[in-house]
Amino acid sequence: MMTTIGERLLAVRARIEAATQAAGRDPAGVALLAVSKTWPAEAVRAAAAAGQRAFGENYVQEGVDKAEALRALGLEWHFIGPLQSNKTRPIANAFDWVHSIDRLKIAERLSAQRDVHLPALNVCIQVNVSGEDSKSGVAPDAVAALAQAVAALPRLRLRGLMCIPEPSADVALLRARFALLRRLRDELLGAGLVLDTLSMGMSHDIEPAIAEGATIVRVGTAIFGERIRPASIPAAAGSA
Ligand SMILES: *Cc1c(COP(=O)(O)O)cnc(C)c1O
Repeated sequence: MMTTIGERLLAVRARIEAATQAAGRDPAGVALLAVSKTWPAEAVRAAAAAGQRAFGENYVQEGVDKAEALRALGLEWHFIGPLQSNKTRPIANAFDWVHSIDRLKIAERLSAQRDVHLPALNVCIQVNVSGEDSKSGVAPDAVAALAQAVAALPRLRLRGLMCIPEPSADVALLRARFALLRRLRDELLGAGLVLDTLSMGMSHDIEPAIAEGATIVRVGTAIFGERIRPASIPAAAGSA
């Protein structure tokens, strides 16, 4: 590897700063979530040493193990992967945020299982902004009802919306997907919910996401390098 994690973090922060400037936004309004899935705790430690505080994980056991191993560093852990109802308990208690809420049943379990001594679990609702090209996330026309129900749960704090558009090199298409998430957030604000988060943008689409209002970008590859996936988990078509 020619560059270090610290150097790549600097480069990603520079991209965020340039994108906020181009959009006329305050750089402080965009938080960087470093997606450390598949990378060992030592990689997280290196990023933490370079000033990174928030980390994203997709797989329950892997994320719980890393959070536990690095507890002394006081980092912030975000669960961003698919949720299964039989695995909510460790998520409810090892993580600070969950970005991928897509049904009420899961949200109810997380709320019921969150340790009473911990602050409310921050959550985002994942929206399917890509129609037939994506299977994960709630449909746009079902967001309002789910958001009201999640916001009413006692141990959760609904922060906003999250999306993963289909991989594409078409920047106009990506912007349209991100703009849809922003409009859905605006509708929820209009309905009286208090939300501050649009979780959107990954290594290849930080810029269009920030142009459309992202407040958290979730970046893995551009910080840690290309992931080597187990052969049993095929890469999404066209993704880097
Ligand atoms: C893996 C992942 C990311 C990071 O993707 P990169 O392309 O490596 O930046 C962001 N969000 C989610 C939900 C992911 O699963």
